[in-house]
Amino acid sequence: MEIAQAFNGIDQLERSDDWGVYKTLLESTKAIPWKINWQTKQFDYIGPQIETLLGWPRDSWLGAMDWIERIHLEDREKTANFCISQSEQGVDHEADYRALKADGSYVWIRDVVHVIRDTNGVTTDLVGFMFDISARKQMEEEVFELNRKLEAWSNQDGLTGIANRRLFDHTMAAEWARGKRSREPLSLLMFDVDHFKGYNDHYGHVKGDECLIRLAREVSQMPLRSTDLFARYGGEEFAFVLPQTPSDAAQQIAEKCREVVAALKIPHALSPAGTITISVGVCTMLPGEESSYMTLIERADDKLYRAKRNGRNRVCC
Ligand code: GH3
Ligand code: MG
Ligand code: MG
Repeated sequence: MEIAQAFNGIDQLERSDDWGVYKTLLESTKAIPWKINWQTKQFDYIGPQIETLLGWPRDSWLGAMDWIERIHLEDREKTANFCISQSEQGVDHEADYRALKADGSYVWIRDVVHVIRDTNGVTTDLVGFMFDISARKQMEEEVFELNRKLEAWSNQDGLTGIANRRLFDHTMAAEWARGKRSREPLSLLMFDVDHFKGYNDHYGHVKGDECLIRLAREVSQMPLRSTDLFARYGGEEFAFVLPQTPSDAAQQIAEKCREVVAALKIPHALSPAGTITISVGVCTMLPGEESSYMTLIERADDKLYRAKRNGRNRVCC
């Protein structure tokens, strides 16, 4: 505020003995001071640091239009409109925007603006400081990107890269609620690799992992709707959440899924089929108040074990 007041009287100051001190103060900070006459919209003053930061000569900053035209096109209208309306209302404000440098690149600026008004409350001048916030912006972007990655990782199975149990649970809860509102059926398909313990025993755990990765990759290439979710439920057990899907459509997807895995013909010496196969359980429910999505999981799981008991490599609905 004191600096702002000093700015207010910048014309008198320029002529006073103290000017040298203030000038040194203003021009030795990293922030770039400036002053605009709100009546003429012309710069009364801009710190020489502007040339170091943006490359444009100090005397090229004549009026507000020079400032507006050097704002990145994506930020320009929003920033200019905001600053003009705040200034007219006499409200101090801050704006972050990208400023164009003489070399054609951009730098993130935070402009902190103090509005000076006369005794009638009419805006007469603006004084402010421009801060180079590009380092902070870059850090913010890195944190944002890291958060995005973390969020994606937290929903992804580490081995196969498909959706994990966490996302499965979340989707089941959300789709159950949605089905309850829209009164549309929710189908769940669960499958489990047959005799997979034998596969690990015979070929080793590394080959077992490779098998699960391949299986997940192939099955996830099946054409599905964007609302469907294919997830690793745990171990060698996988699941499909199929919103707005009636039982006959879910059965077809289950059979298709079984065929896709069988068609891979991954050799399995300890399985009666001679290759890797899966058993699939399917259940469809109309989500209602009296039950929860856990019931759907229990029922699909029940069908899956019936498929196992009935001889494996089959679908049970
Ligand atoms: P069933 O046909 O009845 O399903 O027999 P199964 O041998 O597949 O069933 P069981 O539950 O006895 O064995 C499952 C095996 O799956 C045991 C476990 O070591 C293996 N398994 C689970 N998760 C992984 C994994 O991430 N990698 C590997 N390589 N094996 C896994
Ligand atoms: Mg199994
Ligand atoms: Mg199992």
